[in-house]
Amino acid sequence: MPLADCAEQSEQLETRVITTLKEVVDLERDLDVVSGGQIYAVVATGGAVRVLLDPERFPDEASQSALAETIQPLVEALPGVERVVVKPRPRLAAPRNRLPGIQRILGVHSGKGGVGKSTVAVNLALALAARGLRVGLLDADVYGPSAPTLLGLSGRLETTKDGTKMRPMETQGIRVVSLGLLLPAGQALIWRGSLVDEGLGQLFNDVDWGKLDLLLIDLPPGTSDVHLAVARHAPLSGVITVTAPGQVSVDDVRRGMEMFADLAVPCLGLVENMAGVVCRRCSVESPLFGKGGAAELAKQTGLPLLARLPFYPSLAAASDSGHPPLVDAPDSVQAAQFHGLASRLAIGLELEPGVSA
Ligand code: ADP
Repeated sequence: MPLADCAEQSEQLETRVITTLKEVVDLERDLDVVSGGQIYAVVATGGAVRVLLDPERFPDEASQSALAETIQPLVEALPGVERVVVKPRPRLAAPRNRLPGIQRILGVHSGKGGVGKSTVAVNLALALAARGLRVGLLDADVYGPSAPTLLGLSGRLETTKDGTKMRPMETQGIRVVSLGLLLPAGQALIWRGSLVDEGLGQLFNDVDWGKLDLLLIDLPPGTSDVHLAVARHAPLSGVITVTAPGQVSVDDVRRGMEMFADLAVPCLGLVENMAGVVCRRCSVESPLFGKGGAAELAKQTGLPLLARLPFYPSLAAASDSGHPPLVDAPDSVQAAQFHGLASRLAIGLELEPGVSA
């Protein structure tokens, strides 16, 4: 299903669920539970609906459970609903700030490392910039930042003239911030506990991003404190999920999707990477890391499969030496694949150059 249709369908379902929940009245306050704030968010991913309750709006756990039991069958009975989870939202320490000047923020996520998430994030950023969009790339894969390698960047980020903020590094029309451009080469990052949240906060708030149509965030693989910190500091419009076709990668992706749903961040679509290898002589594709996992996941979740990229030996070599195909081989089949992905996202998210506030 095209991204635009899928997003529209999910939005319509969310509206129907909210309308239904507005009929549920909290008799003590004489107010419906949506207006009363007990419903924190409704997130639909295909036919799967998550209703997140705001624990701070309940006097005790018993009343929260009672509401969950009331609304579960009501939502289950709605047409188009296949699965319902009603649960309290995770406690995020403070409300998310809107980042001024940034129109949309989109995460790129994967269940496992090594599936090509950063390669997709970097080339997608370049392909969106080629459409005239003002694009930033925040490499938040803090324990393995690879954007500088993939983009052939070195050196350190500079500060603004007044010394109060960091300036992203500009390359090929995108603005890049990565811990790899903040730490001395080869130095590992040791962020634990509250430092994760503090450090991520600085990457968002202490950077002079300027005006952006889109900030892409290359998230770490899996589920971690970094994801929670990103969700707390940045109002994510959604995430796209990169997976290899094998079952193990797909299973991990599901866990990530559940985590984002709990954070009220919708998953907008899937990218299957390293989907197979194409014989240069006979053009026949052979599976490499399993087969069909992303297509199956797309079917089950109703999410669009935004792109399916084979394993290109030349892409591995070019990326690892800092020559992304979008820049160094603009007419290649790989570049065309990333342009296709960028175009589906730009249309689906209604991204237009120069609309940021
Ligand atoms: P992740 O961010 O998921 O850890 P990377 O983007 O760093 O993964 O990619 C891991 C390795 O795989 C890199 O060497 C990269 O160049 C290579 N790679 C990624 N996608 C492809 C592809 N479609 N074809 C060939 N090599 C790829």
